[in-house]
Amino acid sequence: MKTYKIAAIPGDGIGTEVVAAGVEVLNALAGRDSGFTLRFDHFDWGGAYYKTHGRMMPENGRDLIRRHDAILFGSAGHPDIADHVTLWGLRLAICQPFDQYANVRPIRILPGITSPLRHVNDKDLDWVIVRENSEGEYAGVGGRVHQDSPLEAATDVAIFTRAGVERIMRFAFRLARSRPRKLLTVVTKSNAQRHAMVMWDEIAAQVAREFTDIGWDKMLVDAMTVRMVTRPQTLDTVVATNLHADILSDLAAALAGSLGIAPTANINPERTFPSMFEPVHGSAFDIVGKGIANPIGTFWSSVMLLEHLGERAAAGRLMSAIERVTADSRFHTPDLGGKARTVGVTSAVIDAIHDAND
Ligand code: ATP
Repeated sequence: MKTYKIAAIPGDGIGTEVVAAGVEVLNALAGRDSGFTLRFDHFDWGGAYYKTHGRMMPENGRDLIRRHDAILFGSAGHPDIADHVTLWGLRLAICQPFDQYANVRPIRILPGITSPLRHVNDKDLDWVIVRENSEGEYAGVGGRVHQDSPLEAATDVAIFTRAGVERIMRFAFRLARSRPRKLLTVVTKSNAQRHAMVMWDEIAAQVAREFTDIGWDKMLVDAMTVRMVTRPQTLDTVVATNLHADILSDLAAALAGSLGIAPTANINPERTFPSMFEPVHGSAFDIVGKGIANPIGTFWSSVMLLEHLGERAAAGRLMSAIERVTADSRFHTPDLGGKARTVGVTSAVIDAIHDAND
């Protein structure tokens, strides 16, 4: 029987609670005639690790997870440590060197969940946002001089390369092709940003010629926020830069009901390195330890992990179990207006997995 090695990195805040729930659900799934087993290796990297060791993960951290089949990640963030230290020290320290350049975020309104948009139902909002995940505004290039003096200056330079833009465009067009509507929206800001964003648009048009069966259009990022709210049914697959998609996907998650539901896959399509799966939400310190973190975002990310491993049947079983549970408002956590707790939602999903197998 095939055994997959999964690196579990819960990180900080509610990351520890939702990843524990995710591991439980994945083990329940693998344990039931799925034809594979999962071996989890747990890594206690994150804010607490930083406080003891002065870094978010060990120097050889990536070597310890390089040969795993996938990574299940929680969140990086700590109330006592600056956000840029936690983000660059852990999440980006894995994503960027492992060249997980395609960040894929499906968004739809799951059964039983109400969108804050009036009159919008599950058929009106069914998107996948593809976020460029290796360069752009998060390239890490910049500097700061004359700190604390009136002459202080700082730059963050957005770097876009032809190779980086071409590969994310091709990935997005291919993904659009795999979906029934075969429609891609390219988000840009080429009116104001007249160098890199103009190149982004040009490369989109060039790559589009390889995909003549895919309809595509272009939207300025500001207008895109309006379209997402007023005409959600006109969108399907979306590709945007690292920063634009970061912001748009939080909006998308909220429109689909809650940030607690939204999943992410950080994919290295060439499979040279393991890919990483995580909920869209962060550490959420306001609810940490209360037992009310919504684990659905992590469960849905686990569906994407299974799909990436090629375990389509198990992925489908888990998605059906999630949808059965969200359909029942008794299992809605407070972010969805309910009273359920993380453990209750987790048990309900495990029960639904078992029911499906019986
Ligand atoms: P970070 O700085 O690590 O991104 P954050 O706390 O600023 O984290 P998020 O965690 O992304 O931001 O979420 C914002 C708010 O949404 C949280 O403070 C929390 O109230 C709510 N929230 C996010 N995720 C969940 C979840 N899984 N379950 C319940 N509520 C959630």
